[in-house]
Amino acid sequence: MTTKAQSYLTHFRNIGIAAHIDAGKTTTTERILYYTGRTHNIGEVHDGAATMDWMEQERERGITITAAATTARWKRSGTNDEYTVNIIDTPGHVDFTIEVERSMRVLDGAVAVFDSSQGVEPQSETVWRQADRYGVPRIAFANKMDKTGASFELVVNDIRERLGAIPAPIQYPMGQENEFKGIIDLVRQRAYTYTNDLGTEIQEHDIPAEFEGKVAEMRAQLIEAAAEVDEDLMLLYLEGEEPSPEQLVAALRKGTIEKKIFPVLCGSALKNKGVQLLLDAVIDYLPSPLEVPAIRGTTEDGETVIEFPADPEGKLAALAFKIMADPYVGRLTFVRIYSGTLNSGSYVYNASKEKRERVGRLLKMHANSREEVTELKAGELGAVIGLKDAGTGNTLIGDGDERVLLESIDVPEPVIKL
Ligand code: GDP
Repeated sequence: MTTKAQSYLTHFRNIGIAAHIDAGKTTTTERILYYTGRTHNIGEVHDGAATMDWMEQERERGITITAAATTARWKRSGTNDEYTVNIIDTPGHVDFTIEVERSMRVLDGAVAVFDSSQGVEPQSETVWRQADRYGVPRIAFANKMDKTGASFELVVNDIRERLGAIPAPIQYPMGQENEFKGIIDLVRQRAYTYTNDLGTEIQEHDIPAEFEGKVAEMRAQLIEAAAEVDEDLMLLYLEGEEPSPEQLVAALRKGTIEKKIFPVLCGSALKNKGVQLLLDAVIDYLPSPLEVPAIRGTTEDGETVIEFPADPEGKLAALAFKIMADPYVGRLTFVRIYSGTLNSGSYVYNASKEKRERVGRLLKMHANSREEVTELKAGELGAVIGLKDAGTGNTLIGDGDERVLLESIDVPEPVIKL
């Protein structure tokens, strides 16, 4: 049961964006930060150059690339519900697979980005297996739909055949390669096209007649995938009845969180198409911190395993997952709070180093600003200034609490042989 104190967590998503190098992770992340930009009013920007300038500046300042966790806000389209989406940077290069594993530990869900002209590439497979190992639910984004050779079917088939996973295509592209102009939502049976280059003006239509046949075929595949993971839907399916969009979303959400199916979306991050629908899908299908298994810790004697449910009123349990040197404030320790509340100016116990440490200031990193806060609550991610000893993977608990070590990242460091 969710208590009142935990209720904000239903509107939290902690996600990573994982991809083969060059699939478009950086472009997709930049677009997400643009569309969610807090200080950037999309309505005031009317020409494509403005977006590009803003993104170039961001790139120069390196914010989107270097913040280990960026906090964004997204209002689910068609609703007034605002969500906090923390984007955790997962390194994309094959040499950094250990780093990828570390970041997997702190995510509740991920967006796997594929280059639609390449399908599932070998390194996408590596990242996919790591996400499997850490039990991370995923949605797949078939990017570069505008590129020569792009094929949505290729990505969907590769997910099935090369990754051995069950794809649930929830969208279908309207045209591919240089004909790509919009996206069909197979769940709600609506079509979306774009009337400006920024992707901010979206028009909603009925499904155009030319796509009706393909949509029926893809939708049958989708309903079949959803029926496999949801008994109620299976019964409807067997009776030949159409599920409502809400029933379908609920079944797909359940199947995604259980990691039995993987919704597949499409778009072109570069051409500003599909990223906002992708954000809606993050909200619809990926879990909140309340819907993933509670992190566990082991007591010092190794005898007892304790669970820490996501609860701001519970005992403090946090994991340091990235240390960065900042030119202005020095050492920044990025943490995920699993349980309890971390307060600025307080003392914590670093159970990994067996040392008491003082927490200085706390920061939340946004795409183009930093916000100083006095507390970070369960489910939140942010940066701590002032921790001297904490290293990557260290457990932080309340000073004076029973000593526990959170599930460690049991990946051996690579052995370098000369
Ligand atoms: P990353 O290595 O995964 O971070 O990939 P980037 O975002 O840096 O993209 C790699 C290259 O693909 C860049 O030249 C991008 O401009 C290009 N790219 C990214 N998204 C798209 C897309 O949707 N369509 C096309 N045609 N190119 C894209």
